[in-house]
Amino acid sequence: MGVSTTSHAVEVLRPGHDRYEAATRGFYRAARPGLLVRPRGPDEVAAVLARAARDDLRVSVRSGGHSPLDHGSDTRELMIDLARRDDVEVLDAARRLVRVGGGATWGQVAARLDPLGWGISAGDTAGVGVGGLTLGGGVGWMVRRDGLAIDNLVGARVVTADGRLVTASEGENPDLFWALRGGGGNFGVVLDFDFVAQPVSTVRFGTVAYRLEDPAELIGRWRDVMHAAPDELSSTLALLPRTPGTPPAAAVLLCHAGDPRTVVPYADAAIEPLLGIGTVTGTSISSCRYAGILENAAPPEGIQLVVRNALMTSLDDAAVAAITRFHAGPVPAAVAVRSLGGAFGRVAADATAFAHRDAEAMVVGALMVPGTAGEPEIEQALVPWRPVAARGSGTYINFQGSATPEDLAAAYPPRTHARLSAVKDAYDPDNRFACNHNIRPAGRTGARRHTDPRSEE
Ligand SMILES: Cc1cc2nc3c(=O)[nH]c(=O)nc-3n(C[C@H](O)[C@H](O)[C@H](O)COP(=O)(O)OP(=O)(O)OC[C@H]3O[C@@H](n4cnc5c(N)ncnc54)[C@H](O)[C@@H]3O)c2cc1C
Repeated sequence: MGVSTTSHAVEVLRPGHDRYEAATRGFYRAARPGLLVRPRGPDEVAAVLARAARDDLRVSVRSGGHSPLDHGSDTRELMIDLARRDDVEVLDAARRLVRVGGGATWGQVAARLDPLGWGISAGDTAGVGVGGLTLGGGVGWMVRRDGLAIDNLVGARVVTADGRLVTASEGENPDLFWALRGGGGNFGVVLDFDFVAQPVSTVRFGTVAYRLEDPAELIGRWRDVMHAAPDELSSTLALLPRTPGTPPAAAVLLCHAGDPRTVVPYADAAIEPLLGIGTVTGTSISSCRYAGILENAAPPEGIQLVVRNALMTSLDDAAVAAITRFHAGPVPAAVAVRSLGGAFGRVAADATAFAHRDAEAMVVGALMVPGTAGEPEIEQALVPWRPVAARGSGTYINFQGSATPEDLAAAYPPRTHARLSAVKDAYDPDNRFACNHNIRPAGRTGARRHTDPRSEE
């Protein structure tokens, strides 16, 4: 595997290379691997993995670069960047079966499927990678109508740690297929994901802005409206970070994905109750193509975003009180409460490795700490988050910026975790893929070399 800049060989970048900085930049921060490689085909990926085994390197995998975890600076880390594997291909139009490269972004997927009148329920941001979002679960603008991204996944092609190309589906390697749907990047390099896309074209999309007078009342009223809402309506209640000199504010971001012929009257009837939950300061709702609603995002300059989440079976008064105290805490924070339920909740808890199907909402807290803050300051800033986490019934790995044993336990109930460990043992017994929310191989805890220091905390 030599250094190359052609499209026919594996590209290899090291620190100091003129393209290394751009290639390792992520949403939250830059990764600092000793080597970054860009394979495309399964043989190239297998050759890279063989080299990692030979040189005893830790392997990380990158799709869209939006991971909340800090890989730190590690000269013994080899990052496999799937940027060259971003095809979106229709395999079977009658079944709406689509094969998506493990390095594609959701913006690319939406743009390719839009002319067909299809879409896949995925995230809200164009630059997020198909790889990371899907392997964690995937909560998108149609989560209540179509479920998680993984609920629309029917297969994947994976290069395992020993270089084999395996297919995972209900019919082939079903244990691996189950684990890929929520178990994160623990089991190999996923070259392609096969999804069944859903019909979607014009949606009602936009924002209702509120003055934030009584946060607890606003959250409670939003919750009650979403309890009664049709599955076509998904929404997020955002409590905006407090800024000096500006009145506290909140917004509901919403998407109604119904029958495009009747979208306006039905959507607006479904949306209308949201106009009565607080003092509205503005609305901006229009009909647009689904592909047009995925936005680009960048964190504010000079700050670190520290992100945590809690899945809530019940947004009861105690949970709401904890959320409002967190938002009012000493460190500026944004809170996003995402509605779940609907199709998301009709999947059995043990059908996929994402087990928290009884959650009615996901609360994401993003603290804005100075860019220079170290671990002690971050731990201090997180103190008001703890009561929110304590009210949660689980955690979603994709918005969890830490990977402690407690985080793993919150993400995976004991039976799910045991099953994931067994699959890990079968496909990655040496824990080569450890730069993630790491599942240890069953029976080998502590016995193997490749551990991620972050999960030793
Ligand atoms: C601005 C923003 C908006 C977001 N919006 C949403 C949202 O609406 N819904 C939602 O559910 N989540 C959302 N997320 C969270 C997002 O799902 C996670 O950040 C996810 O990890 C991003 O995936 P990625 O491929 O971009 O990241 P990467 O950093 O490239 O990958 C994350 C991890 O996934 C694994 N991985 C990725 N690709 C592969 C592959 N092909 N094979 C094997 N392992 C792989 C690796 O372990 C990697 O470390 C958002 C995040 C941000 C920053």
